[in-house]
Amino acid sequence: MASQRLHGRTALVTGASSGIGNAIAAEFGRQGANVVVADIRKEPKLEDERPVFEKLEEAGADATFVETDVSSADDAEAAVETAVSEYGGLDILVNNAGIYHQYQAHETPDEAWNDIIDVNLGGTFLLTRAAIPALRDSDNAKIINLASIYGLVGGENSAAYCASKGGVANVTRQLSLDYADDEVNVNALAPGIIKTAQNHEWRETDEDLLEDWENRTPWPRFGEPEDIADAALFLASDRSDFVTGHVLSVDGGWTAR
Ligand code: NAP
Repeated sequence: MASQRLHGRTALVTGASSGIGNAIAAEFGRQGANVVVADIRKEPKLEDERPVFEKLEEAGADATFVETDVSSADDAEAAVETAVSEYGGLDILVNNAGIYHQYQAHETPDEAWNDIIDVNLGGTFLLTRAAIPALRDSDNAKIINLASIYGLVGGENSAAYCASKGGVANVTRQLSLDYADDEVNVNALAPGIIKTAQNHEWRETDEDLLEDWENRTPWPRFGEPEDIADAALFLASDRSDFVTGHVLSVDGGWTAR
């Protein structure tokens, strides 16, 4: 349908089985995109989340799952190859897969540091590197990286996460320069607290922290995955053709203070 903003385009969304990626993939499907779901799991993490393939089927979208660990260069190449072989090319890459562990800096195990950097920052790089040749062939090429408000400011007990997301924010600016001549827009989203598995446990158990977060947020609520999907749609569509190298906070004003 002509009114669909991504009609006929192909999007690859990492970490799309759960949370924010699930909402982005579903919205892109509703807007007419073919969607490659690249995740290490097929089913969503939370029991009450709807499987992304159910939403994509409802939207009438063409969709493919490819089991992908974004920290593996081989998996990154295979995910992009799947998009190209299934749908003839790639227009939109969403580097969404990400993990979070909570430790004070001096107690962070090597493994936690390495995993977070390898998945959040390394995965963004590996998928981008693999996707550039296909994106160069697209007339509507967009890369959208998931940074975080913790990539813009420091956050308690989150040294590795803040380092990874600060890296994602700045590599977004850097990549926008390398691929401007190829007309590939590269932007990032910096979500505030969004209701997903990443923070499900403390939202259920830590009422003080919950209240503190809500009080510090000018629009005093947590975000829904769909809040991020709406912003991702803007960055994936022609409406953002002159926007590149930008990190867009979607946080109810949390970083405006
Ligand atoms: P989520 O609900 O935990 O979903 C992430 C998905 O990515 C899961 O299906 C997960 O599978 C998958 N995944 C994890 N490691 C992967 C890997 N190596 N390769 C491929 N897939 C992998 O997380 P979310 O909250 O939607 O977060 C999405 C992105 O937004 C992340 O980059 C996150 O850091 C960022 N973000 C989230 C928030 C928030 O408040 N939720 C705020 C700011 C930024 P497994 O469960 O099996 O690991």
